[in-house]
Amino acid sequence: MADQCIFCKIASGEIPVEFVTQNEHAVAFRDIEPKAPVHVLIVPRTHVAGFHEIASMPAATTQSMLELIDEVAKGQGIAESGYRVVTNVGPDAGQTVFHLHWHLLGGTQLGGFA
Ligand code: 5GP
Ligand code: ZN
Repeated sequence: MADQCIFCKIASGEIPVEFVTQNEHAVAFRDIEPKAPVHVLIVPRTHVAGFHEIASMPAATTQSMLELIDEVAKGQGIAESGYRVVTNVGPDAGQTVFHLHWHLLGGTQLGGFA
């Protein structure tokens, strides 16, 4: 765990958050400032600073994250209507939490990219 990392604390249970679902390697919970009716963050339990470091993550963890995204989409009832999966990297993308996470957004007609 990285000291002071909010997502490490959430993933470990140090900060209690209701998980939408979880598996051995990753957890899913609702974004505190949702940008869509469904806005869930999928986060590995181990600390990785962002997508730029994903190659250093064990393949099993990457696989688990992807499986969790699929599970959440189905569980939230948006697998058929559609959804968007986003991960922000660095300042130009507006990354604010430096622990890898995927935003899963759906439940409405999503706007186009700027
Ligand atoms: P980023 O800007 O790094 O792509 O995404 C970080 C996301 O984490 C933001 O959408 C923000 O609302 C969310 N977030 C930040 N702190 C917390 C928190 O303590 N709890 C939850 N559930 N979401 C958080
Ligand atoms: Zn962390």
